[in-house]
Amino acid sequence: MITSAFRDFRSRAILAFITCSILALISHRIGLMDVSLDLLSSNTLVDIENHDEGGMHSTLELNNHLITVACTFSVTSTFSLCNLKLKYSHNENIKQGIDLSDYQSFEIVASIKSPIEQTNIKLYFRNNNPAYSREDVAVSDKFNTIEFKLRDQVTTLEVPTKALFVAQWWKKERNIGYEQSHVDLSNIVLIELVIDDAKVPGDYLLTLHSIKMSGEIISEPDLLMLILFLLFVMIVLLTIRQKNSLKKISTTDQLTGLLNRRGMISKVNKEFKSTVAHHSMSLFYFDVDDFKKINDTYGHVVGDELLAAICQKVIGLLSEMHLNTQSSFARLAGDEFVLMITDCDNHKAVEFSRRIIDVLVDPLAVSGCEVKVGISLGLAYSNGEKITFQELMSRADSAMFCAKQQGKGQFKLFDDSLASAIYFKKTIAENLKNALLENEFTLRFMPIFTCSDLKPTRLEVLIRCESTAMKGITPDIFIPIAEDFGIIEQIDLWVIETTFDNINKHFLAVNRTPPICCINISAIELTNDSFPKQLEKLIEKYFIPPSLIELEITETCLIEADDTSFRILNELKKIGVSLALDDFGTGYTAFNQLINYPVDCLKIDRAFVADIDPNDPSKTTMVNAIVSIAKSYKLVTIGEGVETQEQLDYLRTISCDYVQGFYLSKPLLLDDLMTLLNKQ
Ligand code: C2E
Ligand code: CA
Ligand code: CA
Repeated sequence: MITSAFRDFRSRAILAFITCSILALISHRIGLMDVSLDLLSSNTLVDIENHDEGGMHSTLELNNHLITVACTFSVTSTFSLCNLKLKYSHNENIKQGIDLSDYQSFEIVASIKSPIEQTNIKLYFRNNNPAYSREDVAVSDKFNTIEFKLRDQVTTLEVPTKALFVAQWWKKERNIGYEQSHVDLSNIVLIELVIDDAKVPGDYLLTLHSIKMSGEIISEPDLLMLILFLLFVMIVLLTIRQKNSLKKISTTDQLTGLLNRRGMISKVNKEFKSTVAHHSMSLFYFDVDDFKKINDTYGHVVGDELLAAICQKVIGLLSEMHLNTQSSFARLAGDEFVLMITDCDNHKAVEFSRRIIDVLVDPLAVSGCEVKVGISLGLAYSNGEKITFQELMSRADSAMFCAKQQGKGQFKLFDDSLASAIYFKKTIAENLKNALLENEFTLRFMPIFTCSDLKPTRLEVLIRCESTAMKGITPDIFIPIAEDFGIIEQIDLWVIETTFDNINKHFLAVNRTPPICCINISAIELTNDSFPKQLEKLIEKYFIPPSLIELEITETCLIEADDTSFRILNELKKIGVSLALDDFGTGYTAFNQLINYPVDCLKIDRAFVADIDPNDPSKTTMVNAIVSIAKSYKLVTIGEGVETQEQLDYLRTISCDYVQGFYLSKPLLLDDLMTLLNKQ
């Protein structure tokens, strides 16, 4: 959005600039930038005078703006001069003349009546400059000169100032060096018209009609240069502006206008690098409970509006508690927010956390819907301790994680016990991620035997993590952590794919019916819409007969089952795989509800098998009930955790279909399993 606004602005700026440039060039061409100066106007001209010199008599006349000098030469000599002086400075301050140096040309309109056909005229622009002028020497002003001939009729001469030269005699007489030998019009005190070289005696009538300087505010090449320069400046400014706006985009969250993760980190680096260590900081990390569900139910538009509305509530609360000036607020991703308040008293931070939770108790009105939201918040302080911002953030994040696990809609303050529990889980999660990358997972296969004749017709696939860091950590511990840290989907797929690979390479090759492989999948897969497709793809990739696959899901996950999980269970069934309810009996499924679930098999939980005591009927009630209800629903039964001959015998008497347990076989390595299968 900002980029396109910037592009609009840039195109508009460039268009405006080009238009202005063209207008400027046109104005220049049509003379709108021309300037002129009438040297006879009373604004510039101070006085006019003429001289009698060398046997010559002259008079000066002013007539209808014309200046006429009438000179009568009775004899002629080199010193016979008839001149007209236009003065541009007051005598008292001879140094203050007029600056004509910016004019490019001048126009003189004059005529002469004389005894000869054409008369030589010299025009001097006399410039005063302390570098060469002296007050007591009349001819010390520089003689910028031009010579021309005049006739009887009125003549207009257009002379570029470039044509002026410094009179040679002046340079010689004043002993002028090179540096002062050039035309200088910056302080003209006198303009002098001289009838030169009047070789024939008689009357000379010189009339000056006008003399005008003309020029341009700026020459065309200079104007072009200026335009190019301004263009350059504009490009530089636009580039800087673009850089700034790109920086803004990359550090701002477009939905809420808050900082994004990058913006927050760069702000912290810039402003708080040192202060994290020296100030007390309260960091609040929060997210919306079940935001995915809200998004699925109301759609993304409502979801987005909801996030914006939550931000507004938090911002409102900040200003209500006068904390807005010390706070930095960012949306990290999705529904995750982080808020940092500097120099905030710990009690106030706790009060603030409580109020954020409370303020969101009432449903929010967005897009005509009333949406009930809750947030889980983690709070961590740094009271001048040496701690990085990242560390502080991860503490608050861990506290939030704990708040979620303790039932959502609440806040949790980071403390030492939380630190170690979370540290353990995080380390395991890191190890699991590494194990996926480093291929450190392996499989064990636990044979499942037919109860009647103890043939290993099935096997349960069990995962192990072989990395040294995970020594002694069983799937009972790491699978729930993988679920909490969002790694389980990858692990489940790895188990499925590796099992399929083994079926293909080994199990299909055994010299009898291949065993059915029972694969444990996490309850999380029942919320993962893409799981059935992923499974189907792998089945096709490895050419697996779906009837060889049974997926085990724990019974407890059915307690939370919603429409999505039922849909996913049915999709899995459609693929042709069978489904087993694992640890059956622990999840309080009302037996009569079993009909609602598309399952094929019940795995009697180990605890009930362990309880079996043929001499105490009360201890076998559960096993009996499960087997008999399974029979009535035509479900297969597997007794888990058989550790004694007695347990096996009992399960046989009640016609349980299959058994597995350490009494019959421990989970086996592939080679041992193959030996067992091939023995049959
Ligand atoms: P589960 O699905 O109930 O798996 C059976 C567990 O009971 C296995 O432990 C197995 O070694 C153990 N077991 C079997 N017979 C006996 C017995 O006679 N006595 C005793 N004491 N234990 C017996 P394991 O392999 O440690 O797995 C623990 C749990 O971890 C599994 O319980 C299952 O919920 C989960 N799990 C294991 N592998 C995977 C997997 O590949 N994917 C997923 N999502 N979960 C898995
Ligand atoms: Ca299982
Ligand atoms: Ca089990």
